[in-house]
Amino acid sequence: MTTTAATKVFALIGDPVSQSLSPVLHNAWFADHRIDAVYVALQLGSQDASEALAAIKRLGLSGLNITVPHKQAAAQAADRSEAAVANVWRWEEDGSVSAFSTDGQGFLDSLSEAAADWRTRVRRALVVGAGGAATAIGGALSPYVDTVHYANRTVSRAEAAASCLHNGRVLRWEDLDQGFAAADLIVQATTLGMSGQPGFDWPVGFCQSSAIVADIVYRPLDTGLVRAARARGLTTADGLGMLIHQGARAFELWFGISPDTAQARGRLMSALAS
Ligand code: NAP
Repeated sequence: MTTTAATKVFALIGDPVSQSLSPVLHNAWFADHRIDAVYVALQLGSQDASEALAAIKRLGLSGLNITVPHKQAAAQAADRSEAAVANVWRWEEDGSVSAFSTDGQGFLDSLSEAAADWRTRVRRALVVGAGGAATAIGGALSPYVDTVHYANRTVSRAEAAASCLHNGRVLRWEDLDQGFAAADLIVQATTLGMSGQPGFDWPVGFCQSSAIVADIVYRPLDTGLVRAARARGLTTADGLGMLIHQGARAFELWFGISPDTAQARGRLMSALAS
């Protein structure tokens, strides 16, 4: 479709964004649905983002995704927000901006894809990490499980994340072995294992044979944790599922259309391989 003055503009802002797969994801969905729109990634440095967000708001894009480190600022700068951190902005007909968080629900969608019966299998969830993604995932899991344990290198952040949930608990980093042994679901939500970041010797040998192991890192797709869990015959979920489904939920918020997530996986795997 030719880009004209009528073409709608969608963007991702964050730092870094140059490696983001979101433009591949959304531009392909625009083409699938013959929507006259373009999706671009804009680098926005990690300084205070409130001025830039105010300018973007006045500019009136058609939709915006927000990633690290601006999710909290995006929730605050919107006219209304359903969460304290936001990864989606939608412009309403009156020009006001509504903010949403699709990360947690996107993770649940990907978990359902990997293990359709997870709601009956998971009583005790262990979330490793306590950053933005980990807190969104813990919050989404909380209503469906008995306990959500957070284990984080910096224990104060695990305490803060756990204190937001009625069933939140803290597991000490030194006790990861016991945590892996006791959990029905383990979600790895730190940067460990990401390309360019240190790896980690995860205590997968302690897991129950019924455990589900999810890693939200998707570069590389086959992280050391996913490989080790798969080698043990455990149910696994990789990070591409969450990426696709948080994007699909954003697309639904913008257009009221559920895009094709299965085809998206193939497209993103090609993009990751190139
Ligand atoms: P974040 O808010 O910056 O949190 C980073 C987390 O990683 C913190 O818990 C941090 O622990 C931990 N960490 C960093 N270096 C560590 C190390 N050397 N040892 C132990 N822990 C370490 O980042 P985020 O947005 O939550 O993202 C976390 C990961 O999830 C990234 O790899 C990101 O690419 C991925 N992600 C994937 C998706 C998806 O759709 N699949 C979506 C969002 C994020 P401290 O608190 O101790 O610093």
